[in-house]
Amino acid sequence: MEEKTVKIHAEDVHKSFGKHEVLKGISLDVHENEVVVMIGPSGSGKSTFLRSINQLEAINSGTIIVDGVNVADPKSDINAVRQRIGMVFQNFNLFNNKNVIENITYAPLTLKTMSPEDAYKKGLELLETVGLAEKEKSPVAQLSGGQKQRLAIARALEMNPDIMLFDEPTSALDPEMVGDVLNVMRDLAQKGMTMIIVTHEMGFARQVADRVVFFDDGVILEDDAPETIFNNPTSDRAKEFINKII
Ligand code: ADP
Ligand code: MG
Repeated sequence: MEEKTVKIHAEDVHKSFGKHEVLKGISLDVHENEVVVMIGPSGSGKSTFLRSINQLEAINSGTIIVDGVNVADPKSDINAVRQRIGMVFQNFNLFNNKNVIENITYAPLTLKTMSPEDAYKKGLELLETVGLAEKEKSPVAQLSGGQKQRLAIARALEMNPDIMLFDEPTSALDPEMVGDVLNVMRDLAQKGMTMIIVTHEMGFARQVADRVVFFDDGVILEDDAPETIFNNPTSDRAKEFINKII
């Protein structure tokens, strides 16, 4: 069998805020084309771990290697790593004073990774992909939550990432908006994008995830196929959590 490339390798990652240890030895490998869903109680460290992957948080000890680059090493080119990782947050983090296409083309134009013509052309293609083709010139303020989140995904994809990190992308949305956003993510998964997704959308996790990782109090308590975690969790903590969210 062909060995899959490891895209993200985390080993014994520790992170504290002051005296509060939030990550207590996280180890996790994510392979190329893999979709890993993270679940777990609020405050268990999921966001902190995601943010550590592109060094939005500096870890205290352990190792995180992305595409062979040790992100915690000051000698590494962290900006090069960040350009290969797209991140989507619960609250969109869009430029609210720019229109839709300006949001998408901002990063490549600022970083000069693409010509203005190419950035615009690719931006339009992505708007088509996420179902926002008619909104090219709309101010962000006029978009619904679901449209904002699909724009945030398109904006991340504009930089051609080969890893996408999603932190509760549908938690701030009205229920009728959730499906459209999940569909965009499902399409990305089918195209082979490597993804880590923090979400409590269990139907989506069952369908799309290759693995589900259960975080609890700064450690990974379970890491298994969705069916195993949802139908047959090993730990009492996971059982309790899953019963609450299903
Ligand atoms: P989750 O995403 O699983 O809900 P987080 O990673 O956001 O968990 O938070 C884990 C813990 O770390 C929480 O107790 C939270 O209050 C704390 N925390 C997160 N970010 C900071 C910060 N910048 N400063 C201090 N404490 C933080
Ligand atoms: Mg969080």
